[in-house]
Amino acid sequence: MQSVADAVAGMLAATSGYALGEESVVLQQLDGRILAKPLYAPETVPAFDNSAMDGYALHSRDAELLCSTGLTLAGAALAGHPFRGVLQPGQALRIMTGAEMPAGADTVIMQEDVQVDVQADGERIVSQVPLHPGSHVRHAGEDIRRGEVMLAAGQRLTPLHIGLLASVGLAQAEVFRKLRVALFSSGDELCQPGNSRESHQIYDSNRFALRAMLERMPVEIIHFAWLPDTLEAMRSAIAAAAQEADVIITSAGVSVGDADYTRQVLDELGEVNFWRVAMKPGKPFAFGRVKNSWFFGLPGNPVSAIVTLDQLAQPVLRQLCGERVQAALPLLATAAEAFRKQPGRQDFQRIRLDSEAGVLMASPCGSQGSGLLHGFADAQGYAVLDAERGHVAPGEQVRVMPLGALLN
Ligand code: AMP
Ligand code: MG
Repeated sequence: MQSVADAVAGMLAATSGYALGEESVVLQQLDGRILAKPLYAPETVPAFDNSAMDGYALHSRDAELLCSTGLTLAGAALAGHPFRGVLQPGQALRIMTGAEMPAGADTVIMQEDVQVDVQADGERIVSQVPLHPGSHVRHAGEDIRRGEVMLAAGQRLTPLHIGLLASVGLAQAEVFRKLRVALFSSGDELCQPGNSRESHQIYDSNRFALRAMLERMPVEIIHFAWLPDTLEAMRSAIAAAAQEADVIITSAGVSVGDADYTRQVLDELGEVNFWRVAMKPGKPFAFGRVKNSWFFGLPGNPVSAIVTLDQLAQPVLRQLCGERVQAALPLLATAAEAFRKQPGRQDFQRIRLDSEAGVLMASPCGSQGSGLLHGFADAQGYAVLDAERGHVAPGEQVRVMPLGALLN
């Protein structure tokens, strides 16, 4: 058996260098897409010095006048409506947040710190609050300088990045095309949701759960079908998918002795290894190449299928999408209850998380059976228990992983 870490490292090494084509995508459709090239800032941000507050712009050399006779108002600047003149000594300008700083000013004083006197020669402002030269001014270029690398290639774009692109005036970006995925469930016992079930049948839950997970990544599902347990069905589906898919994913039919035709088809069409990964839930798992496609064979048990897609296949799929893959942050929690664990395999136990006086607490949730989705559906994360260890006593520290982007 090999460890989860070794299995993932092996697949990442095998798939490195696989490069998808690129396409230009508009801001409205960029969420979750992967940047294909480093992105250089076409603009300096802020583009001009502007006020961070509603108040008055003035020059700091007028600090003494401000607290004695006061400064006269030369006009106003609003966001989108600059003041075109130059402030003279003894003058201030009414200015609103985001408005361009006028020539002749270097400081903004908040309106809350100012009294306005209406006098015969116009309005004057006076303030007893100490003036800090340069305060409340957002300077040109303090966030981004034109020409600098704003984002690296391989960045997965989130709403923050989309805002950033828009803020420098870009309406689109070069990203990798979507990964083409063929997804199959298999097994004669399966009945499709929406149909009435014969007494010996179970519903095909994997195909739909796995699809929803995959669609949280930049993938396009190009084949999506149930396959009966026959050599012919498996052979023709896999062969057709391998013509155009980057990735083929199957659930079930890779158990030892279960369905030799799966192995037969994979041996005929490609080079796939059946792995015994020391993880629970998780066995069996297959990975390899079928013609021009990468192949992942997931277990049939619904919890195992979901956890292996999440923990084993996800980093590899992300890398295939062009994403720079980052390891999950290690997090520790205190076991609120005992966890049952047999030494041998790394366990991904489904847990609920809680906070007690700021300390993260983990408790197992639902049944840990690999066929049962209901308990999993209530989970907020996994407790990741090392292969060698046995039961966990209440109060012990355990490594936890909140459910990530595919399951949340
Ligand atoms: P297998 O990998 O074919 O030995 O299947 C393991 C278990 O998972 C069996 O109990 C199957 O009935 C069940 N199973 C297989 N495929 C699915 C599916 N698509 N949805 C739900 N359960 C499944
Ligand atoms: Mg089966």
